[in-house]
Amino acid sequence: MQILHPFEGSIQRYLEEIHDPDQYRPDHCPQCQTKHPLTGHGFYRRTLVDAAFDGVIRVRRYLCRSCKRTVSLLPERALPWLRFSVSLIALFLVARLLNGLTLRAAGRATVQTGMPYQRGQFWIRRFHNQAPTLSLAMAPLAEPAAATDFVSRALQMLESIGWIAAHRFLFSDLRAHLLGWPACLAPRGVPSTLAAAHPGA
Ligand SMILES: [Zn+2]
Repeated sequence: MQILHPFEGSIQRYLEEIHDPDQYRPDHCPQCQTKHPLTGHGFYRRTLVDAAFDGVIRVRRYLCRSCKRTVSLLPERALPWLRFSVSLIALFLVARLLNGLTLRAAGRATVQTGMPYQRGQFWIRRFHNQAPTLSLAMAPLAEPAAATDFVSRALQMLESIGWIAAHRFLFSDLRAHLLGWPACLAPRGVPSTLAAAHPGA
C-alpha cells in the first residue's frame, strides 16, 4: 500500500527528512485501523525526475504489526509507477494540449530538453483516456470548465485546483491516477490513501 507523503518542500529536503523514521510515522494503520504507531521497515528505491532533480530517491516503508502489511510514504509530487513528477507532466500536458505547442516545444517547456517525444505522446494518450474520469472526479473541487471537450475541461480544472492538490485529492478519496493505472495494476492500482496531516503543520 502506498500513502502519499504530505511533504511539499524540495526533493533535497525530503531526502534529508526521510532519514528520521519518527518524522512522519503514521500513528495508526490506515489498512486495518489498529491504533498503534507503525514500525519502521526500511526503504525501497525508485527513480524520480523533477525540475531540479533527476535520480533515485528512497521511499520509507512502515510495517503494521497487527495486519503485517506495509505502508510507504511516497512524496506527493511523485506519481506511483511513473518516473516523472506531477509538475513536469503537468507542464508538458498544458504546453501541448492547452497552449498548442509542438511536441518538441512542449518537451522544452518541461526543462527536459533531451526528452524523447514518445514519452510525451504516451502521457498524452493516457491523459486522453483518463480525462472524462478526472473531470467527473474533480467536480467537488472546481466549477466545471466551459470547455466542450473532456481533455480541455480536465486541464482547466487541474490548472485552477493546482495539480498537486488535485492529485492528492484524486489519489486519496477516489483512487484515480492522473494518467490512469497501467494494465498490470488494473483496475485501480495498489490500495492507496492519504497520510495523516503533517505533524508539524
Ligand atoms: Zn494494519
